Amino acid sequence: MDPQTFIGALRQLLPTHDAHGEARHYLQLPLIGDAEKAVLNDVLDDKGRWVSNMGPQVAELERQLEEFTGIAHCVVCVNGTTALQIALELAGVGPMHALPGFPDKPQRDLVICPSLTFVATANAIAHRGAVPAFVDAEGQTLGMDPAALDAFLHGQCARRDGETFHVESGFRVGAIMPVHIFGNPCRIEEIAAIAAEWSIPIVEDVAESLGSWVGGVHTGRFGVASGTSFNGNKLITTGGGGAIFTDDEALAKRAKHITATAKDPTKPGWHYWHDAVAYNYRMPNLNAAFGLAQMGRLPGLLEQKERLFHRWKTILGGIGLDLVEPRDGTTSNRWLNAIRLPAGTTMEQRNELLMAVDAEKIYCRPIWVPMHKLPMYQHCPAGPLPVTEDMERRIINVPSTARLADQ
Ligand SMILES: *Cc1c(COP(=O)(O)O)cnc(C)c1O
Repeated sequence: MDPQTFIGALRQLLPTHDAHGEARHYLQLPLIGDAEKAVLNDVLDDKGRWVSNMGPQVAELERQLEEFTGIAHCVVCVNGTTALQIALELAGVGPMHALPGFPDKPQRDLVICPSLTFVATANAIAHRGAVPAFVDAEGQTLGMDPAALDAFLHGQCARRDGETFHVESGFRVGAIMPVHIFGNPCRIEEIAAIAAEWSIPIVEDVAESLGSWVGGVHTGRFGVASGTSFNGNKLITTGGGGAIFTDDEALAKRAKHITATAKDPTKPGWHYWHDAVAYNYRMPNLNAAFGLAQMGRLPGLLEQKERLFHRWKTILGGIGLDLVEPRDGTTSNRWLNAIRLPAGTTMEQRNELLMAVDAEKIYCRPIWVPMHKLPMYQHCPAGPLPVTEDMERRIINVPSTARLADQ
């Protein structure tokens, strides 16, 4: 792809200066305005009673997220990484797992996830004291390839005493953690079928897919639990924040309990009785209030994102570029638009394109460096990763802020 042709196409939506004289175009900015100021003022006017981790806004945000997704239970927390860490804990993934028949020989847990993801997926696994194992992506959705998962399980794992073990390391496979990349649902039904066959729990990383559906089922509902993020670059934000989702009431109670220091709710408030080593991962009420204002914007944002995708498709398709699109039967929240450069594109060609665009003050970014190349994860178990490495050279995100739809 010739850089000048690409820049020419980008300029059809991205003026050299916007109405405020701003020349720089970011990847994805949140929509923030009077509604956020009003809700924050409400909290502040409440004599500082509920700025921290108590207050009505937390429960109301959880209720609205349950209503929006249709998932029975939501527990908000400090960020997406901790949401995923807790979701893994709910699924039974831990630092050590006693071997059946050998209680004195504890083993680590392994969690199978894609290599083509943001680092927080693998970090959440490592924070549980578990080890990530990487399987390849699939070219259309960019999510975990069910065939690669199947090949990893059949080729490197074995069933023993009702559990699945990774043969070479001896680690127990504690969970499978698919990700819905850029908001496009991965082939989660096929992954869930394979997981059921091996009786391995699924924990979904839905950090990028609030508002993304598989048929009529919201992403995050195909496994034991899931975790999303409300970081400032996501579709809606609470400044920083996250949420755990589960359809299981007992697990939801457990999530609430361990994210709030495991303080016994049946005892009076002054009685500091804690019954587990737990976390303070509570979302502050200030952030929850902000989140309520953002929830009000969610339907409008999804509508703008949909229109923006189609505008980019017309413009970039017009110069022969291929856009990443959701597979049939699924609805994407269109969080980040992405182009797929032609097969055979080299890293040098990709970087040359990115540098030319950057010189125009337009922020396009390549997909993340895959996990198996990062120093702390390069020795983890993995299957073959040819699609991941191909996509690393070919996938570039283009500016995706919702209001560009009305440019
Ligand atoms: C953003 C993101 C996270 C982590 O969310 P934080 O709120 O930044 O901790 C996890 N996984 C994926 C795929 C993400 O994009």
